[in-house]
Amino acid sequence: MTVEASRVTTQATNIPAPADDSVVRHDWSVAEIEALFALPFNDLLFRAQQVHRQHFDPNAVQVSTLLSIKTGACPEDCKYCPQSGHYNTGLGKEKLMEIEKVVEQARAAKDAGASRFCMGAAWKSPRERDLEVVTEMVRQVKSLGLETCMTLGMVDTDQARKLADAGLDYYNHNLDTSPEYYGEIITTRSYSERLDTLASVREAGMKVCSGGILGMGETTTDRAGLLRQLANLEPQPESVPINMLVKVAGTPLENVDDLDPIEFIRAIAVARIMMPKSHVRLSAGREQMDDSTQALAFLAGANSIFYGERLLTTGNPQANRDRELFERLGLHPETRQEVASDEVREAALKAAMEEQARANVEGSLFYDATREATPASSEGQVRERKPCGLVV
Ligand code: SF4
Repeated sequence: MTVEASRVTTQATNIPAPADDSVVRHDWSVAEIEALFALPFNDLLFRAQQVHRQHFDPNAVQVSTLLSIKTGACPEDCKYCPQSGHYNTGLGKEKLMEIEKVVEQARAAKDAGASRFCMGAAWKSPRERDLEVVTEMVRQVKSLGLETCMTLGMVDTDQARKLADAGLDYYNHNLDTSPEYYGEIITTRSYSERLDTLASVREAGMKVCSGGILGMGETTTDRAGLLRQLANLEPQPESVPINMLVKVAGTPLENVDDLDPIEFIRAIAVARIMMPKSHVRLSAGREQMDDSTQALAFLAGANSIFYGERLLTTGNPQANRDRELFERLGLHPETRQEVASDEVREAALKAAMEEQARANVEGSLFYDATREATPASSEGQVRERKPCGLVV
């Protein structure tokens, strides 16, 4: 049966009853996942929403802020990425940011209501002297009461342990796509090296953030293959970014065909069903989506969003748009309930969030960059930094 033909009716697929969806499985086959993709759209979203409500507040969305702490000139050749040194995208090379500047931006993000601060560096892997600096960043950002996340390229067990010892909560390393399609996108780093990094992160006791990018010319089978890799990890990643490719001029994928937004929503819903307890993050490409597509993504089970440094740029229309969308959809930011070791601070943050929600204070959730210039913008204007591959 073709994928199209099997969409005719739910009975045409051999999918377990929705009640089984509450079980976290690590034995998914590509055929099973393709059958999920082939469900009638309403059936798929209904099942995803059922799973979502078993494990999460359906109206809570986790909000993270992202800062690129080292931009450009990356030796890897990821075909989607403007930071790769292999392509001429006009993106300048920047050295590692100073710790104080990172902490200042983390403080601004916290004031804006972010619960997690993510820092990305365009490296193949961190060098020893870089690691000393970034571990100090982790300590200082953590001391503000924020969860911390980093994406620094490949890390071995020893490097992962140093990051964990500094207090890093999450490490991001995406699988990007299926093992079968991977060679079309990246040649300088192998799929198994990516899996090794995820294993090192787990071994060090950190939480895993790992997902992929859709719209790179891959097939539905490749999307199923990516989700299979992620869901069959034991344990599954706590955070799963599902990104829509942002086509950047100068990269090899700048002219790839657009992905149908409905297919993107299907992938979110399938990810939700397969990884019922993970946060599924709507990440890169969100700015290009209209409000209806974003609303469908939340309905399909996305419950995390990312802010890049656009949050800190003048005018910040994206923040206003997001605040309005949250209000229109009745969404609220998730608090740090999962951080048991920080109960006092969490309680204070939760109380502050609830107070903000009651008061409906404009600008309380999302940072208003027009209020005052941050140190990063004091040179005139904030340059738009690109996080690693735009897609953590
Ligand atoms: S996605 Fe990350 S690793 Fe790949 S080229 Fe971009 S910065 Fe480098």
